[in-house]
Amino acid sequence: MAGEKVLIVEDSLEILSFLADDVLPYHGYQVATATTGEEGRDKLSSEDPDLLLLDLELPDMSGMDILKAAQEDESDIPIILMTAYGSESIAVEAFRLGARDYIIKPFTTEQVIGVLERTLTETRLRREKAELTVSLQRSVEQMTILSAVGKSVVSLMDIEELLSRIVEAGVYVTKAEEGFLLLVDPESNDLYLRAGKNLGSEQTQGFRLKVEDSLAGQVVQAGTPVRRGGKGTGRDFEVKTGYLVKSLLHVPLLLREEVIGVLSLDNQVSDVEFTEEDQYLLSTLADYAAISIENATLYEELRQKMQDLERSQQELIESSKLAAVGTLAAGVAHEFNNLLAAISGHTELGLISDDMDEIKRSLQVVIDTVDRAKKITQNLLTLARRREPRMETMQVSEAVENPLQLIERDLQQSNIELVRRYSEVPLVVCDSGQIAQVSLNLLTNARDAMLPDGGTLTVEIRQDEDDVLVSFSDTGTGIPDNILDELFQPFVTTKGPLGGGEMAGSGLGLSVSYGIVKNHGGTIEVETELNKGSTFTIRLPISDAGPL
Ligand code: ADP
Repeated sequence: MAGEKVLIVEDSLEILSFLADDVLPYHGYQVATATTGEEGRDKLSSEDPDLLLLDLELPDMSGMDILKAAQEDESDIPIILMTAYGSESIAVEAFRLGARDYIIKPFTTEQVIGVLERTLTETRLRREKAELTVSLQRSVEQMTILSAVGKSVVSLMDIEELLSRIVEAGVYVTKAEEGFLLLVDPESNDLYLRAGKNLGSEQTQGFRLKVEDSLAGQVVQAGTPVRRGGKGTGRDFEVKTGYLVKSLLHVPLLLREEVIGVLSLDNQVSDVEFTEEDQYLLSTLADYAAISIENATLYEELRQKMQDLERSQQELIESSKLAAVGTLAAGVAHEFNNLLAAISGHTELGLISDDMDEIKRSLQVVIDTVDRAKKITQNLLTLARRREPRMETMQVSEAVENPLQLIERDLQQSNIELVRRYSEVPLVVCDSGQIAQVSLNLLTNARDAMLPDGGTLTVEIRQDEDDVLVSFSDTGTGIPDNILDELFQPFVTTKGPLGGGEMAGSGLGLSVSYGIVKNHGGTIEVETELNKGSTFTIRLPISDAGPL
C-alpha cells in the first residue's frame, strides 16, 4: 500500500531524479527531496515524512550525523541508508543508530521498492498495534466502568446515589464536560432533573424542560438518541433557554418500550464531537438507569405492601385481643357486682353499728374490696391497652398472672379448680402484653372446654434445658382429630353461633397466639385426648441476661 510520503536526501541529482521523478511516484508514493544534510534536517520536520531515504555521504555532513540527530530527537520516522558498494561495514554502526535498513548503490527499482515496502509495512503494523493497544485499553476501562455500574444496579438500594453514579460514569467514560439525567413527570409531561454531574447551581435550579420545545423532548417523543455539534459545526445548541453548548448527546431511558427520561452529556467549552461509541456507551448506562428506577419503584411498592401487611397483622392481633377480653366481660361484670354488694353491705353495717371496732372492721373490708376492684380494672386495662410491641427481660409468671387474676373468680363460679405449679425459672425476653394475651387465649379455651361441668385447670411454669415452659392443662373435652391439623389456622372454631347468628368464638385466638410466640423465637404445642383434656405448652427461650 503506497500513498505515504518519502523524504529523499541525496546529493546525486541523477539518483534523486531516478527516485523522485520516476520510481517512487510510479509506485504511488509522495516525495519530498533535499540535496544537503542541512536541508534534509529542515524538511524532516517541515514535511512530516513517513520514511527517510538517506544518502550516507552528503556534501555538508555525513548521513550518520542525521541519524544521530534523529535518534536524539527520539523520532520514530524509519530511515533507510543508501550506501556505496564497499561501505557495508558502516551499516553496523548505522543500525546501532536506529537505521531500519540499507541499500547499496547502484540499486534496481525492485530493490528500492522492496525495501521501502518492507519498512513501511513494518512501521504501519507497529503503529496499528500501538493504536490497537490504546483502544483496547480504553475499551477495557469502559467495560470495567460499565460492569462496576452494572453491579451497583443490583447491589445498591439507594436510588439517588445510583443515578448519580450512572451520570458520573457517562461523563467519565466519554470525557464529557457535564452530564445529567432527566425524567418525565407523568403529571405535567415536563422533563425534570433527577441527577447531574458538573452542573453549575444556576443550571440545577428549576431545571425543567418542556417536551414540545427542547432537543431532550424530541428524544422522548421519538425514542431515539440525538447527537449534535462538534468541530466544524461552528454553532451552539440550546439545552434550555440561555444554556448553550458546543456539542451534546441525548439518549432515551426506555422502560418496556416507554420513554421515561433522557440521559444527556454535553460540552460547553470544548467542541469535541460525541462519537457513535459514546452513544452506545451512554445507551447502556441509560438501560442501567431505567432498570434502577424500576427496581426502586418495585422496592417502594413492596415496602408499602409489607407495611400494610404488618398493619393488618397488628389489627388482627388487636381485634382477637379484644375478642378474648370480651369473653371475660361477663365474669368481670359479675365479680364487680359482688364487690359492689360487699361494699354497700359493709358500709351499711358500719352505719348502723355503734361499736367502734365493728365499724373499723367493716371499713377495712370496704377498703380491701375496693383494692380488689382496682386490681381487676388495672389487669383489664393492661390487657386491653393498645400499645407498641415492647420486649423486656422479665419473669414470665408476671405476664401469665395478669389474665389469670381476671379469670380466677370466673373459674370458681364455673366450678373449675385452679392449680398453680410455678417452679423457679430464669428470666425470658418477652413482650408482657403479648404473652398475657396468649395466656388469656389459652386460659379461656381451657375454661370453655370444661363448661358446664367444671374440672381442673393447671398452670405450670418450669424450665426445660434452654427454655422456659408455660403449660395450661385442662380436664375438658379434648380436641377432635378433624380440627387438630388446622388448629392454629385462623377462623377455625367450634364455638357455635350465639343467638342472632353471631359466633361465640372468633377462631383467631390460637392463630394469633401462634404468631406471637413464634415472633418471640418460641413454639406452642398441644397434647390432647378426647374426653380427658388438653395441654397447651408455650416454650420461650431463656434470656441471655442469665439465670434468676
Ligand atoms: P376460638 O376460641 O375463638 O374458637 P381459638 O383459635 O382460640 O378460637 O380456638 C380454636 C378452636 O380450637 C376452638 O373453637 C376449640 O374447638 C379448639 N380448642 C382450643 N383450645 C381448646 C381446648 N383447651 N380444649 C378443647 N378444644 C380447644
